[in-house]
Amino acid sequence: MKKDECIFCKIAAGEIPSACVYEDDDFKAILDISPASKGHVIIIPKNHADNIFDLTKDEAAKVFVIAANIGKILMNELNCDGLNVLQNNGAAAGQTVFHFHMHLIPRFENDKVKITWTSTKYIEGEMDQLAKAIKEKL
Ligand code: 5GP
Ligand code: ZN
Repeated sequence: MKKDECIFCKIAAGEIPSACVYEDDDFKAILDISPASKGHVIIIPKNHADNIFDLTKDEAAKVFVIAANIGKILMNELNCDGLNVLQNNGAAAGQTVFHFHMHLIPRFENDKVKITWTSTKYIEGEMDQLAKAIKEKL
């Protein structure tokens, strides 16, 4: 399903031009217009999903297969030293386009890309309690 006024629905449908690197019935992968590094790809499902929680099981499984396939090509083609696979859900997590997408970001030794956080610590017992609470709900 398409969502009105969604830029990635329009790109996926070919209504807005993009530098497409891969397309099948369910997904399109394009070069990011403002890349973190050369070769930054985003993989977009053709059906609108706001975020990871909206994907079907098949979409969720398939996106990683596509990510690995394109990622391998990027590694060889760009001769990069690494690759970040990431995706953001919710504004607080850095999502700016609210149609699910997965980023593939080629990494080079000493590049200027920053994907980082400051480590924190659990208080005594908190980690086990949290793990138990999550496990019980799955
Ligand atoms: P987010 O911050 O939501 O995880 O990532 C959105 C990404 O989409 C950004 O990296 C941004 O550069 C990219 N983007 C936004 N609009 C367009 C567009 O019209 N075309 C392309 N190719 N990429 C876009
Ligand atoms: Zn959409």
